[in-house]
Amino acid sequence: MMVPGPTPLPAEVVASAVLPMIDERTPQFASVYERMISNLQRVVGTEHAILIFASSITGASEGVIQNLFSAGDQVLIAHNGYFGYRWVQLAQAFGLHVVEHAAAWGTMIDNEEVKRLVDKHPELKGAVCVHCETSTGVVNDIQGFAAATASILSIVDGASSVGSCKLLADEWGIDVVVSGGQKGLMIPPGLSFVSISPRAWRQHEQATLPSYYYNWTAAQHAKLNSYSGTPWTPAISLIMQFDAALQLLFREGIEQVLSRHQAMGRLTRIGMKALGLKLLVPDEDRHASVTTVWAPDLIDARDFVGYLNEHHGLQLAAGLGHLKDRIFRIGHCGYIDRYDIVTAVAIVETGLYQMGCKVKVGSGVEAVLKQIIAEERAYVEPSAATMPTV
Ligand SMILES: *Cc1c(COP(=O)(O)O)cnc(C)c1O
Repeated sequence: MMVPGPTPLPAEVVASAVLPMIDERTPQFASVYERMISNLQRVVGTEHAILIFASSITGASEGVIQNLFSAGDQVLIAHNGYFGYRWVQLAQAFGLHVVEHAAAWGTMIDNEEVKRLVDKHPELKGAVCVHCETSTGVVNDIQGFAAATASILSIVDGASSVGSCKLLADEWGIDVVVSGGQKGLMIPPGLSFVSISPRAWRQHEQATLPSYYYNWTAAQHAKLNSYSGTPWTPAISLIMQFDAALQLLFREGIEQVLSRHQAMGRLTRIGMKALGLKLLVPDEDRHASVTTVWAPDLIDARDFVGYLNEHHGLQLAAGLGHLKDRIFRIGHCGYIDRYDIVTAVAIVETGLYQMGCKVKVGSGVEAVLKQIIAEERAYVEPSAATMPTV
């Protein structure tokens, strides 16, 4: 399975799900919960509060709107893909007035344009941007976005970037990061979280949109006043899995994890280009979570993805929105290593050949293996004279 969420689970994470249940009102749970939160703060790059919810990431995102704004407030939404545009719909569903910066799918958010809009609309109360736009693979310059919106709250959708792309929320001045566990963070779907700066807390105190399940004050009160740290029954098994996953992440080291993701993106793009396929977005290291590739002419990306799954057991994702039949997406965030990429590239080229495309079978895999060897700094083009007999 190589889709940008859900993602494969390490054995330790699977094993943590089958431990006997524990009550959340116990010191045993409290110690797991505290360690999990403090590791999560390190991944997000924040010392501020993090609240956890039993929901998909969209749930915590809805909570962000409910907790920070009042009906009629102005919010800037910079979007360049399917997930960014969802924030427009979400904000409008709660009666907010949306100022949009709409960049073309596959291009980056233009932070100068964002700054111009912030200056032009003094009533703005906050600004939203997706870090990794999972529908196109573009990773936006979120540090630049936070700088352009420094006079108002900056809200970052880090769904597929946390744990895969560099993020220093406090240092970059990001007020709110919303994300969850099932993409770069190696747990099953069902847990979401939000980090909240002191400035965002102050705006929360003034906000009047109604909220209950996602209410931050209730969540923070429980965190400070009970073992369980949550006002409702927490997703105990998922929290135990999150604790295990974050410990694995720090055993590898955050720097290594981020550079592994960059390497996975690089390898995937090398394989696709060697097969003669075209990439949707520029071939840059920043695009470390998901690689997006144009399907060959005359092939519907959904048929191609379906074929690879049915005949070869590889799960990739087709496009979203207007690109649904035009691109396929290879997720490489989370528990993925370079030989997963080799396998995926091998299956893509096999599928292309079987569907009648002109490919030299083996050329994608060959390019990826050469890159692996080159990155090991040991690769020399073998010549007959130096080749040992095998
Ligand atoms: C996956 C994703 C979401 C939505 O997550 P759910 O858990 O499905 O609600 C939101 N934003 C981005 C950028 C995503 O990749």
